[in-house]
Amino acid sequence: MTLPRVVALETYELRLPPLKDFRWQSLTEPLGSFFVVRLIAEDGTEGLGEVVPLKDWGGDHGRQYGETPTTAAHVVHEYLAPVVFAESPGDVGRIHARWDAVVKGHPYAKAAVDVALHDLVGRALGVPVYQLLGGRCRESVPIAHMLGILPLDEVVAEARAAWADGLRAFQIKGGRDAARDGEVVAALRATLGPAVFLRLDANQGYATPKAAIAALRPMEAARLDAAEQPVAGLAALAEVRSAVAPLVIADESCWSAADALALAQARAVDAISIYVGMAGGLYPARQVAAVAAAAGLPHDVNGSLELGIGSAANVHLAIAAPAATLASVTPIAAPADAAPTQVGGRYFADDVVSAPFLYRDGAVAPLDRPGLGVALDEARLRRYAVVQRRSER
Ligand SMILES: [Mg+2]
Repeated sequence: MTLPRVVALETYELRLPPLKDFRWQSLTEPLGSFFVVRLIAEDGTEGLGEVVPLKDWGGDHGRQYGETPTTAAHVVHEYLAPVVFAESPGDVGRIHARWDAVVKGHPYAKAAVDVALHDLVGRALGVPVYQLLGGRCRESVPIAHMLGILPLDEVVAEARAAWADGLRAFQIKGGRDAARDGEVVAALRATLGPAVFLRLDANQGYATPKAAIAALRPMEAARLDAAEQPVAGLAALAEVRSAVAPLVIADESCWSAADALALAQARAVDAISIYVGMAGGLYPARQVAAVAAAAGLPHDVNGSLELGIGSAANVHLAIAAPAATLASVTPIAAPADAAPTQVGGRYFADDVVSAPFLYRDGAVAPLDRPGLGVALDEARLRRYAVVQRRSER
């Protein structure tokens, strides 16, 4: 079977206001910028992709650089689109090889187009994207609700509301003030009980392994389940891991399959956080997941609070990845009038997809449709788009 060729590529830079003033350790400007790619094939089949490029998000010791919707659009139209027009959309591995030869890095730009290719191929073949990734290892994906750096009473109130929505895993942003982090963890454990999964994400904020160990050890009394990226660097992570009870999770330290291999070889962590955007798309993210699985490291599939298109890509990967057993920090995306939760997994007041995910008991599943299973709401796309560009074959 011959897949239809891609004849046009559109990009949209979107802005949607967040529901709250979200804060985390390394974030320097408000959330709410999104980058969407639409591929259009010669027979009219479309494919959608989305990422949230962050300019202040990088790897250990400056090894990765930030991206913005504007830099992503430049890279996509100048360097990635010509390869997409020249190849069959199903040859994703070869497309990545050509992209990596033409332009180094820029994983978010590549991820947006990679996801759109998967969506287009799934629609052309009439199968969900998870089938292209190996099929279902689980029926739905447990979601962790992200709690930003807020005053203690606001964090507790938000967590209670998300718990009432059915969520049983929480990612607590911290890393600026160890005493405050300890108070929040203790308050959440006391409020939510022993069964919820509490994961403190310091975003490399503790200055040294000793500082991280001193911060985390008191949280063992509140049975903190996991400490995400308490410090920067593999050696520092390994030092913390050997000294504290909670699982130590790599996030900023893990972008690629090579990073996952290095983390495993250094015995630096107990688990890995995998992002479609950081890896450069579903194809390379699967390779990260395969290394994690081979190394015996469980992982999640986290996002950077994408809208429904990017969140769908996260969910499809988490459905298909054998070792994706940790709850994932992915929005429960929905348009304004159809959200299945009040607070849990909700970060923006609206979306550009026309129907929510299937949601039950703290877990989401994709809609039973080809591709990513999302339908674009064209009116909402136009309403929130601030810049559009189009390239043609
Ligand atoms: Mg993180």
